[in-house]
Amino acid sequence: MRKRKPGKLFIVSGPSGSGKSTVLREVFARRTRMFFSVSATTRGPREGEKDGVDYYFVTKEEFEKMIEGGLLLEHAQYVGNYYGTPKAPVEEKLREGNDVVLDIEVQGAEQVKRKAPEAVSIFLLPPSLEELERRLRGRGTESDEKIRSRLERAASEMKLAPNYDYNVVNDNVEEAADEILRIMRRATHRR
Ligand code: ADP
Ligand code: 5GP
Repeated sequence: MRKRKPGKLFIVSGPSGSGKSTVLREVFARRTRMFFSVSATTRGPREGEKDGVDYYFVTKEEFEKMIEGGLLLEHAQYVGNYYGTPKAPVEEKLREGNDVVLDIEVQGAEQVKRKAPEAVSIFLLPPSLEELERRLRGRGTESDEKIRSRLERAASEMKLAPNYDYNVVNDNVEEAADEILRIMRRATHRR
């Protein structure tokens, strides 16, 4: 039997509130045969978020056991919580020939690029920092203090955008999704 080509790994980063979840939802609606890597986190679920779908919600102790057990492809601390990518499902999906999408922050992205330089990295930018703040406040999922921490973090994260293979501005959800889909098609055809 012919060996199946491995899948392609995509990294999507961008400051909190830039629209990663919203744009990726649109991308997945139109490119269905991809696997979204569900991360583990120690932050609590937001209203409507489901364990095992949006994240694996775990305690700090459980997360640290995952680190010690070598179960994570990458992990980082972000505004007081741990976030990390379970390694086994990503490796399995890639081996089976499925493309995989990671929605991770900048430190995690750097770790993945070091381990898998062939991964395609995309940085999603908001049209401006003012609009980013409007979106974060409009989402209404974090306290004022947490929003401030996320905005502070955003300013330094945005400086790393040039390190990514592609930068996409999320002015309009449909257009940003279109652009990401074009990047994905190009990368998978080149394979
Ligand atoms: P992230 O996953 O990057 O933190 P979200 O997808 O949760 O960001 O988006 C943050 C907020 O901004 C949400 O309330 C979402 O509905 C809104 N949003 C996302 N994209 C746009 C856009 N292009 N124009 C206006 N609002 C947007
Ligand atoms: P949120 O709390 O808004 O869902 O996510 C906060 C930040 O953590 C976002 O930048 C998101 O991309 C990032 N993130 C989510 N999952 C992971 C992960 O598994 N690893 C890393 N390094 N970052 C993650």
